[in-house]
Amino acid sequence: MTDGETDQTAGRLNRQLDIDKEKLKPDCAACDALCCITPRFEAPDYQKPLGVRCRNLDSQTLGCRIYQKREALGYIFCLKFDCFGAGQAVSRLFRDLASDWQGEESIERFKFDVFVLLYTQISNHLFPGRQLEMEADPESAEKLKPFLEAAVNLLGQDS
Ligand code: SF4
Repeated sequence: MTDGETDQTAGRLNRQLDIDKEKLKPDCAACDALCCITPRFEAPDYQKPLGVRCRNLDSQTLGCRIYQKREALGYIFCLKFDCFGAGQAVSRLFRDLASDWQGEESIERFKFDVFVLLYTQISNHLFPGRQLEMEADPESAEKLKPFLEAAVNLLGQDS
């Protein structure tokens, strides 16, 4: 994707994100715990790697085993993180896609990358003064573009 095309895509997505701000709020019950899997973060007793399930995440319920103790244990990243609705939109998109996914690459890999892209897009839209940088090589960005656009569309819909 050229710089011009990237700007055009970003502009179109920003216009789509001019939706009711109430829709840009997390709905953890509708999410596959993407914020507990995708990001890297550090806590006093744990360095969570990128794209790996947090050790405190219950794999059956997708609930946090230390939810009420996070502040006391120094899990500040979790306490402060707000996905702005990216989590439930991307979870919903990939649940819909999972049954007939025929991509050459892992659907999980795509899911995490789209989550990061969507989160970055929304954050930059809501807080233009603190632009986050998303590093994606041109080939990846081109592959992810349709998924990102579909996830943005889902954000504007009622679940
Ligand atoms: S500590 Fe809990 S809320 Fe934080 S990432 Fe892990 S499972 Fe999620």
